[in-house]
Amino acid sequence: MRQPLVAGNWKMNGSLEGAAALVEAIKGGLDEVREAEMAVCPPFVYLDSVGKLIAGTSMALGAQNVAKEDPGAYTGEIAAPMLTDFGCKYVIVGHSERRNIYGETDSLVAEKFARARQEGLIPILCVGELLEEREAGKTEEVVARQLDAVIEQVGIAGLGDGVLAYEPVWAIGTGKTATPDQAQAVHAFIRQRLASHDEGVAQAMRVLYGGSVKGANAEALLAMADIDGGLIGGASLDAGEFLAIGRAAG
Ligand code: PEP
Repeated sequence: MRQPLVAGNWKMNGSLEGAAALVEAIKGGLDEVREAEMAVCPPFVYLDSVGKLIAGTSMALGAQNVAKEDPGAYTGEIAAPMLTDFGCKYVIVGHSERRNIYGETDSLVAEKFARARQEGLIPILCVGELLEEREAGKTEEVVARQLDAVIEQVGIAGLGDGVLAYEPVWAIGTGKTATPDQAQAVHAFIRQRLASHDEGVAQAMRVLYGGSVKGANAEALLAMADIDGGLIGGASLDAGEFLAIGRAAG
């Protein structure tokens, strides 16, 4: 049985006060989430305060990015041990905004994944195609390439310690969601590809869906056989929506 995971990616949003209010509101409804693990990934500067607020709850803390380097002279970067210092369990790597706005390559994402694993963090590896890639029939090719880069770096056993998130770029923050069937087809492809390396890893791997998930569409998406939770952007900034997704996940 794969425990569902619903992770909120707050991106570069919020304030100290707003983050506290959001966390308190989520905590207030956690009891209604039965099976799913709920995680929040605030901006780096709020990790400390959010971490303290969720201490003692079932919620987990995650970061949105990590450096591939060890601590040192890398202005503006955050190293993996700094994230564990602040109680992070998860870290998102290869989010499409990192890939497409900040030019992160498949190999850089793979190095970040490896560095996070080495530190005992659970990386949430995002993969997904651009609209033009989907329209050109290249969805599987793109997802396979992004996945293979990490398998080459850490091996299939190393990948198996992480979490995957399929996030079609055309569905992120656009209000356009992949249909449950469209999402399921790619999730099944991902699981088959993992199974071609290791059946055990394929069966144990949590593969989240991300892309305009909200309370209203979560149930249909999360009911699909190979969708094991969600990576949630916009709707994670609203406690009611985020909790509704958590309840839909089980
Ligand atoms: C995301 O950024 O990971 C995401 C899925 O965003 P949204 O839910 O806003 O589409």
